[in-house]
Amino acid sequence: MAERAYLDWNATAPLRREARAAALAAGDLVGNPSSVHGEGRRARALIEEARRRVAALVGAESRNVIFTSGGTEANLLALSPVLDHHGGKAPRDRLLISAIEHPSVRCGGRFPPGAVEEIAVSAAGEVELGVLERRLGGGGRPLVSIMLANNETGVIQPVAAAAEMVHRAGGILHVDAVQAAGKIPCDIRSLGADLVTLSAHKLGAPKGVGALIKREEDLHLADPLMRGGGQERGARAGTENVAGIAGFGAAAAAVQANLAEEAARVVGLRDRLEAALRAMCPDVTVFGAAVTRLPNTTAFAVPGTRADTALIALDLAGVAVSSGAACSSGKVAASHVLSAMGVDSGLARGAIRVSLGFSTTDEEVNCFLDAWNKVVRALPKGRTDGIAA
Ligand code: PLP
Repeated sequence: MAERAYLDWNATAPLRREARAAALAAGDLVGNPSSVHGEGRRARALIEEARRRVAALVGAESRNVIFTSGGTEANLLALSPVLDHHGGKAPRDRLLISAIEHPSVRCGGRFPPGAVEEIAVSAAGEVELGVLERRLGGGGRPLVSIMLANNETGVIQPVAAAAEMVHRAGGILHVDAVQAAGKIPCDIRSLGADLVTLSAHKLGAPKGVGALIKREEDLHLADPLMRGGGQERGARAGTENVAGIAGFGAAAAAVQANLAEEAARVVGLRDRLEAALRAMCPDVTVFGAAVTRLPNTTAFAVPGTRADTALIALDLAGVAVSSGAACSSGKVAASHVLSAMGVDSGLARGAIRVSLGFSTTDEEVNCFLDAWNKVVRALPKGRTDGIAA
């Protein structure tokens, strides 16, 4: 039996071997990538190699990759009213976001709160394209932000269809692909995204690195968050996190080389877990099960359970899962994602997210199922009907 089962990959993925090696080797380099001497040029070469690898993961050109301190910063960098193709003058006056975005998008970046509008999602957790189209018909110069896959439910959003609507209305589309990258293909052109956000640690690279990636070079980020030394072509000042970026590049390359194979294996484990869960608890609700989801994610609730107590019991049994987004664990607030999907607040209180990854084993899934069986058996009598021995 595995000692601990880490099944919280959407919170953060374990460090990949390739990323660790690249980050350690880069950490041994002394040069500042902005220096012109040999040491500096060697550090610069590592960054540029990582830029090529990260660009390749989303089919972009490397000059359009801006390294940041993570997905949060990349999202905030994108959400600015002064974002336009060169030649565009008037500021963006509306920010349209789906109701299930990560808090770093929900906070609206540098848009005034009154300019931010939420687009509803269906009960299955997909953004309502009809609502988006109606809102886009309201005029103005919109910036739209829709995630490619939701961090809590794994539901994949109809981004390509949204992109067509957004562009027809003269808008710009930002896509937070933090959870999707490395799990499903994320080609910036097929998605129709103008900007894509990635986070290194979700791919198995060190934490504290991310990227905002432009589809076209002429999309101008006129409002950098970090000003100073002019690094990242003026879009993000500050000496680069060379070790983290090198790890990011190595993880991106490893992920890209094995994407289909890893996804096929992981979806097999996830589907087995869900089948066993349904056999154990016939009244379980698996959120977003009716639509296309990431291969690695399952979010579910069983009536009568409470996620906070279940998480502790699972942790004591050696199983690490989440009650939703990692950044909101510890808080008792209901998930904004489940509430946008119209999930009853009592049921939502029991929501557990299990997320797997390329190195998850059958044994870890069994470990979770055994621990969950004990959680459910501890529920008040009458509730345990239908639980398999
Ligand atoms: N966007 C989504 C969908 C996420 O799930 C996360 C992290 O959980 C982020 C953005 C933030 O990324 P980072 O942790 O790199 O700041």
